[in-house]
Amino acid sequence: MMAARQTIRWRGELHYDEPMAEHSSWRTGGRARRFYRPADLDDLCGFLRDLEPQEPLLWLGLGSNLLVRDGGFDGTVIATLGAFNLLEWVDERTLRAGSGVTCSKVARLTAQAGLVGAEFLAGIPGTLGGALAMNAGAFGGETWRQVLSVETVTRSGQLLTRLPSDYRIDYRSVRGPSDEWFVAARLRLEPGDAQAAQSRIRALLARRGETQPTREPSCGSTFRNPPGDYAARLIEAAGLKGMSVGGACVSEKHANFIINTGAAKASDIEALIVQVQEQVEQTQGIRLETEVRIVGDRTT
Ligand SMILES: Cc1cc2nc3c(=O)[nH]c(=O)nc-3n(C[C@H](O)[C@H](O)[C@H](O)COP(=O)(O)OP(=O)(O)OC[C@H]3O[C@@H](n4cnc5c(N)ncnc54)[C@H](O)[C@@H]3O)c2cc1C
Repeated sequence: MMAARQTIRWRGELHYDEPMAEHSSWRTGGRARRFYRPADLDDLCGFLRDLEPQEPLLWLGLGSNLLVRDGGFDGTVIATLGAFNLLEWVDERTLRAGSGVTCSKVARLTAQAGLVGAEFLAGIPGTLGGALAMNAGAFGGETWRQVLSVETVTRSGQLLTRLPSDYRIDYRSVRGPSDEWFVAARLRLEPGDAQAAQSRIRALLARRGETQPTREPSCGSTFRNPPGDYAARLIEAAGLKGMSVGGACVSEKHANFIINTGAAKASDIEALIVQVQEQVEQTQGIRLETEVRIVGDRTT
């Protein structure tokens, strides 16, 4: 069935029955009952105010850390990409960026300006909003280390400014007020050398290309690293590289990546996740926790 597209009184785009496989870097998953891409912040606030109070909401950046089960998401997806594109310098060291801006853009822009601290974002294929929600990090860098403040929106369409101290921030984990989402952030960087920052970006991207299956559909690291160890090392030690369920396969190149070899269903990926967890626990004595977010309904 084709996804319907309709614009009502809001200025954004409202789609019904939207295939979420088109919005997940795993390239699979069910449909969302409604999918809204706001025109801008005002439009989003109006849309949120008009929602039924119980309507389930799923915020979406680039879907690079998200698996929507095959039964789909029975609620409304709010898509930030292309909606919150704000980029402005607050001062020579502070960038205010919308949550729909890509991480690579933030990295490039700040490096070009001779600022250091956000180079690690270059290879993270998500939005700033996703990076804030996940406390995305790589090569020693972490999103929230650079955050001066965030701007959020509540379910009732109220805009707020919050400080990092309003959140409990850990490795790939951010806990804060519920029913509140990121629309922008002020990122504070250190002054440095533009050439050096840009060549660091090139080096980090090259390293990813060498060690990760970046050309195949995945959501990056499937599991969080347990304290003092690496999920990839444990999965490899359990002999699980290459293990597959349907079209989902543990990457031979990086054991913490599960790739869609072509026709994986979300249920294949989830079943493989469970098998990896069970086998790593049995053979290595450690229960891996998922880093990827799994949402939606199973098919019956
Ligand atoms: C090849 C590859 C490499 C990767 N490498 C890394 C890496 O090095 N480090 C790393 O940390 N991650 C990595 N990832 C995972 C992923 O890119 C990050 O988690 C990224 O931050 C997700 O951003 P996104 O915009 O795609 O979020 P999505 O996948 O769209 O969403 C992720 C979560 O954030 C929530 N969310 C999204 N936007 C908002 C918002 N505005 N407000 C509130 N909640 C929101 C969603 O509801 C969901 O729960 C990689 C992924 C891939 C495919």
